[in-house]
Amino acid sequence: MNAPSHEAEAGIQQVKLLIEGEWKASTTQEWRDVINPATQQVLARVPFATPEEVESAITAAQRAFPAWRKTPIGARMRIMLAFQALIRENLPRIAQTLSAEQGKTLADAEGDIFRGLEVVEHACSIGSLQMGEFAENVANEVDTYTLRQPIGVCAGITPFNFPAMIPLWMFPMAIVCGNTFVLKPSEQDPLSTMQLVELALEAGVPPGVLNVVHGGKDVVDALCTHSDIKAVSFVGSTAVGTHVYDLAGRHGKRVQAMMGAKNHAVVLPDANREQTLNALVGAAFGAAGQRCMATSVVVLVGKTREWLPELKERAARLKVNAGCEPGTDIGPLISKRARQRVLDLIESGIFEGATLLLDGRDVQVPGYEQGNFVGPTLFSSVTTNMRIYTEEIFGPVLLAIEVETLDEAIELVNRNPFGNGTGLFTQSGAAARKFQSEIDVGQVGINIPIPVPVPFFSFTGSRGSKLGDLGPYGKQVVQFYTQTKTVTARWFDDASVSEGVNTTITLR
Ligand code: NAD
Repeated sequence: MNAPSHEAEAGIQQVKLLIEGEWKASTTQEWRDVINPATQQVLARVPFATPEEVESAITAAQRAFPAWRKTPIGARMRIMLAFQALIRENLPRIAQTLSAEQGKTLADAEGDIFRGLEVVEHACSIGSLQMGEFAENVANEVDTYTLRQPIGVCAGITPFNFPAMIPLWMFPMAIVCGNTFVLKPSEQDPLSTMQLVELALEAGVPPGVLNVVHGGKDVVDALCTHSDIKAVSFVGSTAVGTHVYDLAGRHGKRVQAMMGAKNHAVVLPDANREQTLNALVGAAFGAAGQRCMATSVVVLVGKTREWLPELKERAARLKVNAGCEPGTDIGPLISKRARQRVLDLIESGIFEGATLLLDGRDVQVPGYEQGNFVGPTLFSSVTTNMRIYTEEIFGPVLLAIEVETLDEAIELVNRNPFGNGTGLFTQSGAAARKFQSEIDVGQVGINIPIPVPVPFFSFTGSRGSKLGDLGPYGKQVVQFYTQTKTVTARWFDDASVSEGVNTTITLR
């Protein structure tokens, strides 16, 4: 962390807070550089907001709530319609920023924004998504119906790896349901998130409905414990997600926490070899493996173990370079620290006896010598007690495990504590049906390597990858961001005959 910088002097942008519709310069003494991971160029400085600044963001959201919850649903929806159009229009510009601060390729940065844009598009259907239920005549002249009402101020805490998609999982659906919001973006790459927030204001989100504070643990803990925050959405690592879930839960909030992963792809001998190998390489090494749904373990069933040399060959062909360079397949890791952690884990794999088939540790990237690069790395002979298997690596490292049968593969995947995503590659409908039924993982791909559902479904990671029962986006998140009120009503008409006093609990 750095001393406060003087913007004019250093020529480096200071990221602002957004409080009650105004962009505020933080008065904090704690700042962190936002760094281009391919070049180490400082792109901006991000403040760690003071307790008073966090308090005023929550107060602004609380003040905006009564009027916003009464804003007609069509008016809220039309803001989302304007927002999605603005995102589409500005997508190439935001992708440039995202690629520069996060490292992923320009095409993948566009994909990051597009997957978030799809959630905003879905938010435009809020008219039908937020409908209640109605049952007529549940007793004499009695009807029962439900209202889906907003819950108040919600908070969102997001990770570095999808700085567009994940904030867009959260605040559009929360506010279109009539809530107000305080967003805490990743301090590692907040710039593209802030460009999206600017567009939300331009689309018509009123002052105080969306607020942004920056920072780390102190800011997150303040959001998790403040009495005016009613719900917390978190996406990030398992350690932090568990802390957020416990802390916010203890303070009476609804919490959803999407966390770390170890995603297995199971390959059966009847799978289409060409398509499967390409899918595995893309899903394991794309975004330098920094996706919660990246394939990190390939389970080779039977004679598909013979595919390993070809898998290695295809992985070795990937081009490692800065995300802005044409033809790049793998960009840098987010930070020097993240790179060192991945290198340490590779070392541990060698030490613990796995076979290093492809070694990405010494990759050279001319023109970007300072970048946080690790090339594609492939291990075989991996056992489930090795650190490379028990820990999430979050880098371009694929582990291969060989088994004899589909049953053995299912048993292996189900024994792993994480449950984010998994895939089966096969041409057998019967094998696919058995797999989808018996596998204990929340998101299953059949010949699809990264089965992230589109937004009219919900993100459904499970077991060690998730705390809380309702997932982001889709119908589940409408439930998460609303409270159901049940109304039981009797309207007497003049002809109704009074049946006298009823001292039982029965409705007549
Ligand atoms: P992280 O947990 O380090 O950070 C996430 C957020 O928590 C950030 O906003 C950060 O500022 C904050 N934070 C960090 N340390 C904290 C602490 N001690 N107390 C309170 N808040 C703290 O995660 P990351 O490195 O930014 O993201 C990568 C992780 O996110 C990986 O584990 C990945 O699998 C996971 N992830 C999961 C999903 C999913 O949907 N399951 C999606 C994307 C990423």
